[in-house]
Amino acid sequence: MQLQISNLCKTYPNGVKALDNITLNISKGMFGLLGPNGAGKSTLMRTLATLQEADSGSVMLGDIDVLKNKQRVREVLGYLPQEFGVYPRVNAYEMLDHIAVLKGIINAKERKDLVLALLERVNLLQHKKKSISGFSGGMKQRFGIAQSLIGNPQLIIVDEPTAGLDPGERNRFYNLLSEIGENVIVILSTHIVQDVKELCPNMAIIDKGRLLFAGEPVKALSDLEGKIWEKSISKSETEKYQKEFQLISSKLVSGQPLIHIYSETDPGNGFKKAEADLEDVFFKAISL
Ligand code: ADP
Repeated sequence: MQLQISNLCKTYPNGVKALDNITLNISKGMFGLLGPNGAGKSTLMRTLATLQEADSGSVMLGDIDVLKNKQRVREVLGYLPQEFGVYPRVNAYEMLDHIAVLKGIINAKERKDLVLALLERVNLLQHKKKSISGFSGGMKQRFGIAQSLIGNPQLIIVDEPTAGLDPGERNRFYNLLSEIGENVIVILSTHIVQDVKELCPNMAIIDKGRLLFAGEPVKALSDLEGKIWEKSISKSETEKYQKEFQLISSKLVSGQPLIHIYSETDPGNGFKKAEADLEDVFFKAISL
């Protein structure tokens, strides 16, 4: 099954153009949708999840017209929203059981088997009697994945799932997502480059509602090969370098700025050639 997004547009009543003619084809596997805050990621995710209307354009999931036939989309959709709202004081088992009923799994034995299998899959079986309101951030996200998997979805949308997770939790969550991504379309919306780097064989970068790149991260990296240069400078020099070069990032290493610039030829000035990484791809794309 393929997800085909064509010429999708959305302008909010306040005039903000959140989606500006987005065209994207997404196949099975993990797909990273990368963009800074305010890029339009959530607007796109909510539109795909049938929670909000677009102004124009079309979205097809296989033969389902996503913008018109919302009910059919919901039957094959798993959605993990950015904000899950307030977690009730019920335990993980009861909550999943309840969601399974809402999703139409009425046979009690079938539901019990499913809920236990899901809890096992997301590594929460030993916490099934614990109230979800007492879960850690990572446990909540894994619970969120468990609920999104009920009903064998063909399309799974996860919106900014790793924000607020500690490194261990993030890793466990990555492993879980990449397992799931083997069989269905998983769209991971994030502003964290590392999420995409570790997980996604395909990606897109959006900013200000516009699509800036779509393709394989390795292709984006090879396009930058030999064109990224780095230099350690002092803090007071940052502005000068910003004016003279196409500065794409600056990070502190031992308290001193290490800058990356884009240049097709050797910029001299003591710059050394740097190996391009996905952060360079991202910052270069959004700096244009
Ligand atoms: P992201 O998820 O990438 O942070 P969003 O889709 O949330 O981006 O937002 C895209 C742009 O649309 C932002 O400028 C945001 O302020 C604006 N926006 C989002 N939701 C609304 C809304 N309901 N009304 C008006 N503007 C909105």
